[in-house]
Amino acid sequence: MLIAIDYDKTITADRLFWHEFLGMVRSRGHYAIVATGRKSTAPIDDGTKRLVMSVVYCGDRMKSWAVEQAGYNVDIWIDDEPGHIEPQRKLSW
Ligand SMILES: [Mg+2]
Repeated sequence: MLIAIDYDKTITADRLFWHEFLGMVRSRGHYAIVATGRKSTAPIDDGTKRLVMSVVYCGDRMKSWAVEQAGYNVDIWIDDEPGHIEPQRKLSW
């Protein structure tokens, strides 16, 4: 399975926790990428890149679109702001 994880306020909320999580992802034969709202002009540089297949710098684009354009088909998203993944519809009743 491929997991896409956000960086700012997700991984940065507890780097040790998420780095251990990413190690477990790999040990179980799964894959992870970082899908960040950052632009490539502000790269991440705290060791996270060593633990994932790739970092997709989505910038202002919807993350689902940017990641697909980068060639990835994500199974699970982890993000503190899921509204950045794809357009959302609010349910009302
Ligand atoms: Mg975030």
